[in-house]
Amino acid sequence: MLVVMQAQATEDQVSAVCKKIESLGYRAHSMPGAQRTAIGITGNKGEVEAGTLEEMPGVQEVIRVSKPYKLVSRDTKPDNTVIKFPNSPVTIGGKDLTIVAGPCGIESRDQAFIIAERVARAGAQFFRGGAYKPRTSPYSFQGLGEEGLKIMAEVRDRFGLLIITEAVDYESLDLVDQYADVIQIGARNMQNFSLLKRAGRARKPVLLKRGIAATLEEFLMAAEYIMSEGNYNIVLCERGVRTFADHTRNTLDLSIVPAVQRLSHLPIIVDPSHGTGKRNKVTPLSRAAIAVGADGLIVEVHHDPDRALSDGMQSLYPDQFDALMVQVRQIAAVLGRTILTRESVVVGRVPHSSPLLA
Ligand code: PEP
Ligand code: MN
Repeated sequence: MLVVMQAQATEDQVSAVCKKIESLGYRAHSMPGAQRTAIGITGNKGEVEAGTLEEMPGVQEVIRVSKPYKLVSRDTKPDNTVIKFPNSPVTIGGKDLTIVAGPCGIESRDQAFIIAERVARAGAQFFRGGAYKPRTSPYSFQGLGEEGLKIMAEVRDRFGLLIITEAVDYESLDLVDQYADVIQIGARNMQNFSLLKRAGRARKPVLLKRGIAATLEEFLMAAEYIMSEGNYNIVLCERGVRTFADHTRNTLDLSIVPAVQRLSHLPIIVDPSHGTGKRNKVTPLSRAAIAVGADGLIVEVHHDPDRALSDGMQSLYPDQFDALMVQVRQIAAVLGRTILTRESVVVGRVPHSSPLLA
């Protein structure tokens, strides 16, 4: 059920409707928009009695939502969600494209610093890197754990990059929530519903990767799990799905970008690294992802990919990432989108002695 308020409804009227919904034992999710505020109702088992709400001052209409997801839907919030970060000009989902880059896993302080310096200089706003790695084999590198998170926090201070890293369970999610700017939920956990609900109670925005065989609806429902717990800052990420094709690791499904944008107000970025699994395909598909209208990219970069502890085959060399950024800026311009300059990202976040400002 969705309560649509009149364009001229006052804040008091909106909060009175929310209070009424809560008094009926449901949860109210107020979604202010440019034209009007809509209030989503969750926690109801059956249909909510619309009558009382319809009669309240400021209410335009009460709509039954037939889709299985509601808060992530454009019916609830017609305007795009733009995620903001404290003390930073960086956004996700606005006019600026968001570029996330870094190694698959944090392997050491030196490794992280070498790569962070290069991706920051090339123009990334976010540094990625797993401290907890969900690996197919239990004998593969599993990540440095909290030590990896501490290294990432150092990267943030030193280079003025925002930090994004994966949480794989409750315990790591608590820690990632403390250290990172964005909590990543990986493809393998896209339908780990208890973890999604826990992420919905976290303070930080969540990057939700598409499951390896998830339909569009399953993907949006996973986001709905997070949102239904009160965390409205969610970024979707297309990272390829498993198909019969074996010339790539996964099949990057770029058509999901406009499909998501039609149905949902949430931003969506693309991961061409896991989406292809092959270094030589990362740049072409990054270009395509921006052209198709994605809100940004998440790309694996490593200075010594042959010795990377995970995903070296799909990691760009820093020079290749430099070249990619030059191309992406040009494609962005065609679409009327922009990419923040390095200077505007770091000012206000790091001391002026930062090497990046030199
Ligand atoms: C990753 O981003 O390093 C990762 C493990 O991605 P995915 O969950 O998409 O496989
Ligand atoms: Mn990886």
